Amino acid sequence: MDFFQYKNGVLHAEAIPVHILAERFGTPLYIYSRATLARHLTQIQEAFAEAEPLICYSVKSNGNLALAREMARLGSGFDVTSGGEMYRAILAGAPGRKIVFAGVGKSKAELARALQAGVFLFNVESEEELHFLGGVAREVDIPAPVALRVNPDLPPKTHAKTDTSVKGVKFGLDIETVLDVARGVVGHSHLRVIGLHMHLGSPILSADPYRMGAAKGEHLVGELRKMGHPITVLNMGGGFGIHYRKQEALPASAFAAEILPVVKRLGCKLVLEPGRFIVGNAGILVSKVLYRKESGGKKFVIQDAAMNDLIRPTLYDSFHRIWPVNLPKGASAPPEDYEAEIPGTEKVDVVGPVCESGDFLAKQRALPPLAQGDLLAVFSAGAYGMAMASNYNSRPRAAEVLVDGDTARLARRRETLEDLVRPELEAMADW
Ligand SMILES: *Cc1c(COP(=O)(O)O)cnc(C)c1O
Repeated sequence: MDFFQYKNGVLHAEAIPVHILAERFGTPLYIYSRATLARHLTQIQEAFAEAEPLICYSVKSNGNLALAREMARLGSGFDVTSGGEMYRAILAGAPGRKIVFAGVGKSKAELARALQAGVFLFNVESEEELHFLGGVAREVDIPAPVALRVNPDLPPKTHAKTDTSVKGVKFGLDIETVLDVARGVVGHSHLRVIGLHMHLGSPILSADPYRMGAAKGEHLVGELRKMGHPITVLNMGGGFGIHYRKQEALPASAFAAEILPVVKRLGCKLVLEPGRFIVGNAGILVSKVLYRKESGGKKFVIQDAAMNDLIRPTLYDSFHRIWPVNLPKGASAPPEDYEAEIPGTEKVDVVGPVCESGDFLAKQRALPPLAQGDLLAVFSAGAYGMAMASNYNSRPRAAEVLVDGDTARLARRRETLEDLVRPELEAMADW
């Protein structure tokens, strides 16, 4: 559940009417709810409490510093996939011992910086990376704590672009070779193989993959220990799905039921890397209707948020609920069931101003009749929304606002036209 609710036909972010925020900060606008963020972190902390897990919020899903700072304050650790994300986590107040570092292409500079920051784990994704990390660790003379990231080779479980544990993707070490790779670094002076890592993909709406992954992990941890690696950490990654369409997601307890028994049997410390589960439903994107038109027998609603603001529909064919911020006369709250006929609506394509046919937020979507100037809310936009935003078409990126009860504060100002060209002007200053 989130704290974006209609009261008397007016969408509120916690205690604040959303249209007030749109007037104050402009559109397109990302609005986050602090209470929703905290609630979802708490849900995971409670579901896995008996394992005393290290929850590492996935910075990749939404790296805004205000949110990251809030997560740090709530006791969360951080999962980072680049030096940039590590920089954000540290700025947010995270100690190195609460940071885990994944990614198939960590550079020498990134590895060295992470060693100096004292990260809790390097999630290592290839044999070459493992040996390279060993070399860097020797150079700076700081031993590297390592979790081998294994690709557990599970059946497809989500969109092909975000399924990270099927055969043939770039992530992790093949399950057939991970033990050989591990054998090659037994006794290494600067590599401490203390963990096993897997991140199965995202979003995942079933607990089955976690059961299958954890079972394979349990076997591998046993083998790694036999060869002399003192494995004390099982990192099961992130990927827990959320409500995009209706109430389709599982509670954290469903995942805990599959993961906890394995953790208990192994006597391992559990690490989790949830991003979407924590921040996905804690954010909405608010836009304003610019024009309506009919073309080729279809109705289009052109509004001021585009694929550069939220690329998920274009990239993954993702479904985001969209509904007017202020309900028109006679319109009901957003539908629970998009499969059914929705009275008082018409089917429209919701598109943005970017010059691509692929620039859309929804296709053939049932919406109440809209007028120019109406505000729309795109729900469940907190994860992989602003994090994937770009300046394509030279569009300044949207502003972000963090709401806490009846207080709203700007968490990132809207980019200006000057922001767009500053790096070029700086580069050309002495031409
Ligand atoms: C993206 C990613 C996550 C977070 O995935 P969510 O679906 O947002 O929970 C966790 N771990 C790794 C290694 C990732 O790449």
